[in-house]
Amino acid sequence: MRKRILSGMQPTGELHLGNYLGALANWVRLQDEYDCFFCVVDQHAITVDHNARALPGLVFDMAVSYLAAGVDPERSTVFIQSAVPEHTELAWYLATVTQHGELSRMTQFKDKSDQQGEASAALFTYPVLMAADILIYKATHVPVGEDQTQHLELARNAAQRFNGRFQKGFFPLPQGLYSNTPRIMGLDGLRKMSKSLGNHISMLEEPKPLWKKLAGAYTDPQRTTVTEPGRPEVCNVYRMHTALTDAARLPVIAEQCRSAEWGCGHCKKELEASLNTALAPIRERAKELKANRALVDQILGDGASKARKVAQQTLREVRELMGIVGPR
Ligand code: SF4
Repeated sequence: MRKRILSGMQPTGELHLGNYLGALANWVRLQDEYDCFFCVVDQHAITVDHNARALPGLVFDMAVSYLAAGVDPERSTVFIQSAVPEHTELAWYLATVTQHGELSRMTQFKDKSDQQGEASAALFTYPVLMAADILIYKATHVPVGEDQTQHLELARNAAQRFNGRFQKGFFPLPQGLYSNTPRIMGLDGLRKMSKSLGNHISMLEEPKPLWKKLAGAYTDPQRTTVTEPGRPEVCNVYRMHTALTDAARLPVIAEQCRSAEWGCGHCKKELEASLNTALAPIRERAKELKANRALVDQILGDGASKARKVAQQTLREVRELMGIVGPR
């Protein structure tokens, strides 16, 4: 069987450059090698307080971002999580082989519940739903960031226990695929790129605001004058170059920086060109897709039908193995 991937993002509206380079660009590459299932995880989004009126628009925008970035519905299955209700049913079955202690050790739960005050039961159990998202497709691989390692481990544990209790080898133990793209920090250079922190470049940023943001981006803090040599290895602008600029140019850029032949403005101008080359086609596709809602809905509907066929088969087998049978 071709190796299979499941991945998804919460509908947070338009994505930023860090999301694109750290996740989406990687998904686009993985489509050549894997059978890919990519979903918008709207049921994860409701585990914390959310705006019900805004949610459908956010889901649509996220689907547009996937497609505009190059996720190809001809090669990958693209859908909304809640359109495949088998995820939540499997989550219940997997909860029976997941330990309470494992869930209470999840650092993301601790972080989010601290922010929320009173945490919901859904927030506590959402790693089980995440395990179901993966295992319902018997995915063999999951693209993960460092902060998701714990969740993947929980999915592997659940699969292993299920296999041990009901059928050896039933679920593959999903492996993590870690992106080798360097982690892009926010434009303040200090924290992760994030919309809520306002230190981001949007994936769909127009050229003018893009340059405005880039011009003020944090570089090497020790380089206070143009004549001072810089250190590309500590500079977030250089890190962005490594993800976006032609590899043959990188040693030249590093050398110009170290020998102080370039000011940071010159360096950022070259990055601006690389960014516009990468983002211009994405911006254009996003505009076309936003203007053609029927097409996006059609893609998501087809994706959900395709995903459901696989999910229903897995669920039939799971019910059978667990003794959940009888007229229905
Ligand atoms: Fe960073 Fe470029 Fe300035 Fe060097 S020249 S410190 S790599 S922005």
